[in-house]
Amino acid sequence: MIKLTMIKEILQIGDPILVTKTNPVKDTQSTEVKKVIRDLLDTCHKNADISAGLAAPQIGYNMSICVCRRVDLEAKDEQLDEEKLWTVLINPHVVKESHKNTLEWEACLSIGRGDDNLWGPVERPKKVTVNYVDIDGMPQTIEAIDYFGHIVQHEIDHLAGVLFISYITNPSNLWRLVDLNNYIDKNDSYPDIE
Ligand SMILES: [Zn+2]
Repeated sequence: MIKLTMIKEILQIGDPILVTKTNPVKDTQSTEVKKVIRDLLDTCHKNADISAGLAAPQIGYNMSICVCRRVDLEAKDEQLDEEKLWTVLINPHVVKESHKNTLEWEACLSIGRGDDNLWGPVERPKKVTVNYVDIDGMPQTIEAIDYFGHIVQHEIDHLAGVLFISYITNPSNLWRLVDLNNYIDKNDSYPDIE
């Protein structure tokens, strides 16, 4: 059987849907929801070399669904199949967050393509607890820490219409991917934060 995949175009900043709060999903098992999840996963697989996650509004759907890459499991060298590598969160909510913050460099597939993809340092709670509904319609809880925690919070922000650049008060902290890579090659570290 031929498996048809649907790679969606990733919408770019300036599109109003990216700054619009999404609607919660009512019927998680509907055909429409399953199609959105399939499109999100197909688009993540296609962009696997540059993607850490994706939210439904980024491919044009006003729905509270996102996909997060399990970088925490990858870091443990676990052999992950595609299903385990990408976790689908439906109607996710942060129910608990640590007082301690961590800083990570983030980027977003909706903010610049290729060399022009923008990166910047973002401070977020180090650890969050998130309630969500999984693809089978079952309520779940996940704890997300450090870089994985940033991914989960970044994607949940998308569902509220919030982009990571909102947290960057000084534009001189935003770097184009190509310039950031050159800087890191030369200095063996990320740039100082202004
Ligand atoms: Zn993003």
